[in-house]
Amino acid sequence: MARHTGAVCKICRNEGKKLFLKGNRCFSVKCSATKRPYGSGQHGQNRKKLSEYAVHLREKQKVRHSYLVSEKQFLRYYKFAMRKKGVTGTILLQNLESRLDSIIATAGLTAGRKQSRQLIRHRHFTLNGRIVDIPSYKVRPGDEIGVKAKSTDLVKGIIETLPEKPETNWLTVDKNKLKIRVNALPEREELDPTIKEHLIVEYYSK
Ligand code: SF4
Repeated sequence: MARHTGAVCKICRNEGKKLFLKGNRCFSVKCSATKRPYGSGQHGQNRKKLSEYAVHLREKQKVRHSYLVSEKQFLRYYKFAMRKKGVTGTILLQNLESRLDSIIATAGLTAGRKQSRQLIRHRHFTLNGRIVDIPSYKVRPGDEIGVKAKSTDLVKGIIETLPEKPETNWLTVDKNKLKIRVNALPEREELDPTIKEHLIVEYYSK
């Protein structure tokens, strides 16, 4: 991601959504988006009605920030989805969700995609038995994600601090063995229902 060096909680507050960018703090009462559920800054509570263009742009930015990808990467995901047969918005989300960092967070092994990304870069995770240190790595149905033997205590320690995640059909998660099996691509119903992907497609179609 093009590095955002400011306060990340501002992103959540301005997008009006918890994006889980600060590890365990996101699950605590200290979360800024919970404490102050309005835009950041002096005029955060008096935001004007958004134009149609701004609504599309905000939805794209919200999703982009939540998956921690740069503008360039996001456009690449969009173009890939557009070339595929099927519903562009759904394919876009499926591909974002199939990133290694995202799957590890969805499975509940880390506090969010940002923490997943950090641990992957530090070579704590394996894919089909081999260490992978690329957070954006595309995981496919049939793949198995694991944790390096030396890192099991670290990851188990993180899991203990996290709330339980709901089970999904597309992932089989074994928290004792620290294994995630990818059974299939996620169906749209299994992905974040608050995302309005048609707005993103409209944003790029203009
Ligand atoms: Fe900050 Fe996390 Fe709350 Fe977002 S969800 S406002 S990153 S603490």
